[in-house]
Amino acid sequence: MSGELSPQAAPSEQGYEGALRPATLAEFVGQSKVRRQLGLLLDAATLRQHTPDHILLAGPPGLGKTTLSMIVASELDKPLHQTSGPAIQHAGDLAAVLSALTPGEVLFIDEIHRMARSAEEMLYLAMEDFKIDIMVGKGAGATSVPLELSPFTLVGATTRAGLLPNPLRDRFGFTAHLEFYSDDELSSVIRRAARLLEFDISDQGVEEIAGRSRGTPRIANRLLRRVRDYCLVHETPGDTESVRAALTLYDVDQHGLDRLDREVLAAVVERFGGGPVGLSNLAVSVGEEAETIEAVVEPFLVRAGLLTRTSRGRVATRLGWQHVGAEIPEHLFS
Ligand code: ADP
Repeated sequence: MSGELSPQAAPSEQGYEGALRPATLAEFVGQSKVRRQLGLLLDAATLRQHTPDHILLAGPPGLGKTTLSMIVASELDKPLHQTSGPAIQHAGDLAAVLSALTPGEVLFIDEIHRMARSAEEMLYLAMEDFKIDIMVGKGAGATSVPLELSPFTLVGATTRAGLLPNPLRDRFGFTAHLEFYSDDELSSVIRRAARLLEFDISDQGVEEIAGRSRGTPRIANRLLRRVRDYCLVHETPGDTESVRAALTLYDVDQHGLDRLDREVLAAVVERFGGGPVGLSNLAVSVGEEAETIEAVVEPFLVRAGLLTRTSRGRVATRLGWQHVGAEIPEHLFS
């Protein structure tokens, strides 16, 4: 899929993302329920002068999990230590992180479902009792030495809550499920980012970008930056026309579909008669990894009502046929 519409962060974006991240819960747009729940948890912890319960943030990439972890630390006025599941390959990696935490520190583990199994078990005890057992020596002479930790708050983030083992999931006192953003919420995200970037854009221009952002703030911010570049280079105002021209250049259509989304949908309709077609056949026919199609393309096509997943495979909806511009076989939908 084109870089512009991938909900994953590109390494080159880190500076920009930092600059656009809301710093407080009040500035965080949308997710009103999660904001209220999290706000209550943090306020109560501050009143009780206690570290808050561990927090699990679940939801697709680009919806604000990392941002919320930073907000938790800043609202508690505590330092934040950031790491990720793939960086914890052994229990020892986790022991090093945990033993260095200062009292009340917030530990953010992104993609927590990808952590090594041995580390997961260590984490259970650490979360519950702020203790770990460290193995010293090898073989028959190995002994375990208990180590007390500073009380800390773990903020775990996952795109796949279902992959977390139950004992780990159960140790979080609060789980927030982040939802895709509405177009109105995305418009607020874009307006805020435009202000920070000092880019003058019309309300219609903002709405036009919001409608193409797949319910995802990271994509909204990225598209905004492409439009800003376009206006700068072409010396055009930030209006609907510039937005359309810029996003057409980057292959993003009016519904937020990119080249790969359209290819997948067209393949289902034109090569497989509208489906059902299995994931691997579909992947081969468009020359893309099955994983990319399953994790990035499909969820969006399903949410947009263009494709459905059935037990026999992927099937194009009426809207899907329409979007591809194919003649709709009415007998399939009667
Ligand atoms: P995740 O960790 O879920 O992948 P991030 O927290 O890194 O997502 O957010 C991606 C980008 O989107 C950041 O640049 C952030 O500024 C922006 N963003 C996410 N959620 C919001 C929000 N609710 N309000 C404003 N900006 C947001």
